[in-house]
Amino acid sequence: MTRNPSEWVDAFLNLLSLASRLEEEGEYNIAKLARAAADSLGREAAYQARPAMEADQLAVGIRQTAASLSHLGVSPALLAALENGAATLAAGRVSLIGDAPHPSVCRTCGHLALTTPQTKCPTCGAWPDTYQRFMPNYWFDALEPFAALESLRRTPEEAAALLTGLAEETMARLPTEGGWAIRNVITHLRDAQQLFDFRLDLFLQEEHPDLEAKAVWTWATQEEERPPTASEIFAAYRASRAQSLGKLEQLPLADWWRTGRHQEFGEVTLRQQVSYFAAHEVTHLPQIESLRHRWMESETHPRAA
Ligand SMILES: [Zn+2]
Repeated sequence: MTRNPSEWVDAFLNLLSLASRLEEEGEYNIAKLARAAADSLGREAAYQARPAMEADQLAVGIRQTAASLSHLGVSPALLAALENGAATLAAGRVSLIGDAPHPSVCRTCGHLALTTPQTKCPTCGAWPDTYQRFMPNYWFDALEPFAALESLRRTPEEAAALLTGLAEETMARLPTEGGWAIRNVITHLRDAQQLFDFRLDLFLQEEHPDLEAKAVWTWATQEEERPPTASEIFAAYRASRAQSLGKLEQLPLADWWRTGRHQEFGEVTLRQQVSYFAAHEVTHLPQIESLRHRWMESETHPRAA
């Protein structure tokens, strides 16, 4: 925990400059410890200080942050993209790749580009391939093909174990403070899986297919189009998953690097899409687990609910 903000900033900067210096000496194993410590300090401080901001205030938050960064010499292109982000949020629209391209940062000097660098770093002369590229989240590159297949096979089993013995009424029970019921989480898993299977077919049938951006999470509470029971929704999820696995198991490894153009995320490979969907769905298991625990507790101790 922070005792003194300037002490914290000094420690943070010392770790990063020490890491760079160690990398120059080829001491990569020690450098990684310093980088991990800096990452941990940064994330921990952000976790403690996360703003209690409603979603509709985020656009204002982005504009205020961009204004404070402009005095620090941050790339005007990045500031303009942040402004675009604030505008799309305020308009209730998802920010697409044209609004917010993937940034790249020179690992040596910190120069930031909003295009994939094609030439040497204008500040320090580093080679363009040495830049760090920032993807929207880690799901794109989380899992190599065999690990992704294993995860796609395993997650429905883990979800099924979490649903064992739950009645339909329990799965439909909404938390009093708002948010999803278990049924909504299952619906979301099914919706994401069906979108994944649809995209998989596009990759297999077309050269460089266009992949439309879909706000899948908004479908989870649209009840009118659902089968009547959560068990049926879960069965549809598993059936669709089995189909996708059948297609992927037949696929020559080289085809995992086929590319498509994603409306939200730009150029993506099939390998990245498989990794994305496999890594994404795992993040929803704790939601089911904590609701299961809560509803089972409340059945045993009704007044604790
Ligand atoms: Zn540079």
